[in-house]
Amino acid sequence: MYLRTGRGSEQFVVRGQGTQGVQQYLCRPSSTRNSRRHAALSAPPSGAITVAQLAASLTDLVFWARNPSLADKAVKPRTKEATEWSQILKDEVRPALHNSSTRWRVGQLIFFARNPAILGHFKEQPKDRQLALSREFDDIQKNIVGPWLNAQLARGPVNSRTIFVVDNDTLKTLPWETRTRAGDELALQFAFVNGGAPMTVIFLEPARFPEAFNLSDAVVTVTDLPPNVHVHTALKQQVNNLNRAISALGSRQTFPAPNLSRLIPERYGLASMNKLVTAAAQGTQVAAPLMSSAVSLKELIDHVNEEYIPDVYRKGQSHKDAIPDDKGKWTPLHKAIVGIALGRAMAHEVRHLYVRTPNHAADGLGSDSARLFGKDLTTDPITFSTADKTSIQSAISGLESQQGTRAVAASFAAAERSLDFPF
Ligand SMILES: [Zn+2]
Repeated sequence: MYLRTGRGSEQFVVRGQGTQGVQQYLCRPSSTRNSRRHAALSAPPSGAITVAQLAASLTDLVFWARNPSLADKAVKPRTKEATEWSQILKDEVRPALHNSSTRWRVGQLIFFARNPAILGHFKEQPKDRQLALSREFDDIQKNIVGPWLNAQLARGPVNSRTIFVVDNDTLKTLPWETRTRAGDELALQFAFVNGGAPMTVIFLEPARFPEAFNLSDAVVTVTDLPPNVHVHTALKQQVNNLNRAISALGSRQTFPAPNLSRLIPERYGLASMNKLVTAAAQGTQVAAPLMSSAVSLKELIDHVNEEYIPDVYRKGQSHKDAIPDDKGKWTPLHKAIVGIALGRAMAHEVRHLYVRTPNHAADGLGSDSARLFGKDLTTDPITFSTADKTSIQSAISGLESQQGTRAVAASFAAAERSLDFPF
């Protein structure tokens, strides 16, 4: 089969047939198919890799560690091995991508596959054995998992359906439990999406972002700035980048500069998008996804304190149960509450990067001023309504047909990497 990547069309070999939506992950570049096991285990191919290739390769590493006799062999469709591979992808690798510590998590999966007897018995080992095992774990993280996680990412196929969470300094100041909970919650909110490809949520450092995005992708940032200020700055840079890219492809259309006064923030976030297809040179067309969305961490925590912390809490007044500014003082409950709130707030804004109408749903997480919590802050689910899920699903499919096989303009081309990060 042929898939378009950021580096043009390339032949991929399908390594098995998964259940619906998993197919796109079962592809590996034919150039690495017959490579020696060591080479395949150590490093990604040169150049950028798609999120799907990254997930497939990490799944291979875990699968091979558990099944050493199958290392670097293609998995046959409809076998129990293919089922095991797909389950590792779905239940272990994809959750690790939107986790605070992908390298560590995937490293652990490989380490315990190699050393199953150590699970829960590390401290009982003699000191020199502990040291050797620690070295082995470090080596797995650094030399086996690390190279894959250091690669720059490329735009995937049209239905790549990836939500990129910018792993910036603001997000990194959060406790790992909060980050993990936020990523899990965001992924959970979009887990209903089907029809050929699941949504993948990935935490990604700015330098590793793809140059171009599909209309089915989304980018969300957690910021210390007021959300309208962040989105305005991001759009300004992105408009410049996209206008350069579509002009180079022969388009005469230009995105107008964003207008700060027209970017009206929601309670703690904002999203703005203009995903379009426009005429380019010689009767061709180009797809250009302009999009930015942000959640203000401080405004979100204020909101949670005002609306959901029991008893009276008024702005500016402290209360013993309020979530403190100092993250070092957060209890496990605070960490969980902020994580869930952040995941849901990001999901609300990401929805705006797909659905044009209705702008807000009648009820559920996609509604205007949506509730973030039920009665019980950690167990009651708040989700998109059934009608809204239909809107989101059809918006994503619609954007994919709109893009089709058209060229895609770069939002963050190599030449623009020294300028402001445009998301
Ligand atoms: Zn909204």
